[in-house]
Amino acid sequence: MSESLRNVVIIGSGCAGNTAAIYTARAGLQPLVVIGHEPGGQLSITTEVENFPGFPEGVLGPELVENMKRQAAHFGAEFLDGLVEQADLSKRPFRLRIEEQWVETRTLIVASGASARWLGLPNEQKLIGHGVSSCATCDGFFYKGKKIMVIGGGDTAMEEANFLTRFGQVVTIVHRRDEFRASKFMLERVRSNPKIRFLLNAVVTDVYDVAQGVVSAVSLKNVKTGEEWREPVDGLFLAIGHIPNTKPFAGTLDLDPEGYIVSHGGARTSVLGVFHAGDVQDRVYRQAITAAGAGCMAAIEAERFLEAQGH
Ligand code: NAP
Repeated sequence: MSESLRNVVIIGSGCAGNTAAIYTARAGLQPLVVIGHEPGGQLSITTEVENFPGFPEGVLGPELVENMKRQAAHFGAEFLDGLVEQADLSKRPFRLRIEEQWVETRTLIVASGASARWLGLPNEQKLIGHGVSSCATCDGFFYKGKKIMVIGGGDTAMEEANFLTRFGQVVTIVHRRDEFRASKFMLERVRSNPKIRFLLNAVVTDVYDVAQGVVSAVSLKNVKTGEEWREPVDGLFLAIGHIPNTKPFAGTLDLDPEGYIVSHGGARTSVLGVFHAGDVQDRVYRQAITAAGAGCMAAIEAERFLEAQGH
């Protein structure tokens, strides 16, 4: 095996990637995990995880994923900082360009997850890190006693709103409809929190104040009545879903119209020897436990594939 020819390269260091690393490392395949732009994946920006089996008192997301990483490293997984910029899957071994170097691999597990979606407001990107955030866990601390707004009607919005009441004076959930995707349990928890208020059938149309370099207000619109108004706010947290990280695979792997990998059964993709794991393919369940399960499936398939090829 040449120095840069690997048996398995795993793209992504979230729950799916780390679980695939544990399994392939234990199988003696010395996987290389490419960490990616969000080390630890979604778990690293989560607070308490209460539904991962085996933790009756709950566990902190970053701690859970760090433990997975240590477990994989213990069995011989290697971790590489960086991003996959280009992927040549036209023949085996596959070739990946990672931070100026090319790595060759006999199998590939794509566990690159999905990143937070932004609203696309005129001033949004200019105020990221100055009051606009997609991560309550990372930034909530800065909003002690402040007015906070959370956008979205799914479980993430509910979870983040609830978490942010630890810091904020008031947390307003802005949702574009009056029905929610969030589970009943999460919704009820939020409804019983006295610090949370709802603004329904409403959308944020822009965020201010770029001149001051800090968020001080948003403009809103009622989508039913057309009424428009401004509200003072110090922190704008977006929780409106995710975009799959599949850019290097456009045109090579079968992707659906939103960019998620299309599964070809089990953990198989449209390219023999390339497997998927976690949120990069799963737009439905997206749980830590399902991502871990998917990582395990991809690892087993990669092992069997290599074995069938005589490696
Ligand atoms: P989601 O369920 O897809 O919800 C996204 C929300 O954002 C929806 O309410 C959507 O509105 C809204 N939205 C999307 N684009 C928008 C836009 N441009 N402007 C305004 N609003 C917009 O995403 P999620 O909440 O991140 O959850 C993803 C998955 O993870 C779900 O399966 C969820 O159950 C799971 N999850 C579970 C937990 C847990 O169990 N602890 C925690 C977090 C997430 P519409 O409803 O109108 O489309």
